[in-house]
Amino acid sequence: MWSVVAFFPPSAFGTFPRKRGKERILLTSRRSPFNMSPILDLTCDLIRRRSLTPNDAGCQALLAKRLENAGFTLEHLRFGEVDNLWATHGSGAPVLVYLGHTDVVPSGPEAQWASPPFEPTIRDGRLYGRGAADMKSGVAAMTLAIEQYVTFNPNHRGTIALLLTSDEEGPTNRDGVKRVVEEFRRRNQHIDWCVTGEPSSAERLGDIVRVGRRGSLSGHLRVRGVQGHVAYPDKVRNPIHLAAPALAELAAMRWDEGNAEFPPTSFQISNVHAGTGALNVVPGELEVRFNFRYCTASSAADLRARTEAVLARHAPDFTLDWDLSGEPFLTTDGPLRRAVAAATQEVCGIVPRADTGGGTSDARFIAPLGAEVVELGPVNASIHKIDESVGLDELEQLPLLHRRVAELLLGQ
Ligand SMILES: [Zn+2]
Repeated sequence: MWSVVAFFPPSAFGTFPRKRGKERILLTSRRSPFNMSPILDLTCDLIRRRSLTPNDAGCQALLAKRLENAGFTLEHLRFGEVDNLWATHGSGAPVLVYLGHTDVVPSGPEAQWASPPFEPTIRDGRLYGRGAADMKSGVAAMTLAIEQYVTFNPNHRGTIALLLTSDEEGPTNRDGVKRVVEEFRRRNQHIDWCVTGEPSSAERLGDIVRVGRRGSLSGHLRVRGVQGHVAYPDKVRNPIHLAAPALAELAAMRWDEGNAEFPPTSFQISNVHAGTGALNVVPGELEVRFNFRYCTASSAADLRARTEAVLARHAPDFTLDWDLSGEPFLTTDGPLRRAVAAATQEVCGIVPRADTGGGTSDARFIAPLGAEVVELGPVNASIHKIDESVGLDELEQLPLLHRRVAELLLGQ
């Protein structure tokens, strides 16, 4: 805890406690006397909005108003509980899209935070708050970047656009970018390049740019046997005994060798359940859940077929339900990767390493439209954690970085 060491009448500054000695500042008022940069100001405005998935909490309206004033055409695509914003400037090809989400994950126990998660706070050169890194700083930066870009380049070639959703962090992503892309397919909306401002960096801004993702394929297996007394093996069929050698074979399988951009495909069993709890009963069914993180050297169809062939050799009676939550994609070296590398060198003084690691993002829905897709954003060390934060130095560089990418791709 810190104490309030100076009081100002709310009529003058709004309310904010501060402790100058430790540079700890609670930014609760837009009218604070501190000289805030546009990116810091906008990021704080977004963090204050408690936008837990699928609630946008007014983030998109705030950004839409700015973009409308800058000459963007707006479209609000609300599906179910989810707000999606599609803002465009210019017309025709090439189409450059900035992609982001306004929703955040829950804070966890607020008492464990050093400062309240939805009250943006600066200390030790960092801005703290839920979404500081994932990804309200990125959303604010992309908005400022394209606003500045069209102000200085009103007659740029092609189209510059921002696509935002409030359904990225939830379990289904049904009504977010996935649904918007279905709408884009109906309209034949082409996308050439897509930059998503997700936190891609590891140690400092720009050290890693994500150029692809592995696919994710999950299986839910049920192996049926015949339940009975353990003392009468001739009267039972034990599903554990049937499944165990199959699972051992699957766990030891070399699915592929990977390739230059991806590590080999991995198979992991996450849950196994069988048994009644009694020691004298052979169970009638065994249930297994597993997941493939797979690279472009394998296809989902091939992985399914090989898995089912192994099971068929060991267990005569099984069912297997599959869920393909994301196909792998890879953006090869082309105009987008070259622009991102050049912008990162100019703004951050660093040559980014192209990488395909990490979890999934909404980029997986955009890539199948034929777009080149990269993820470029702040350091991801604190995302989804207690005391999530972004460095003030990287925050200030972010809008310049995104604007420079636009200048290199659409001209200036
Ligand atoms: Zn995110």
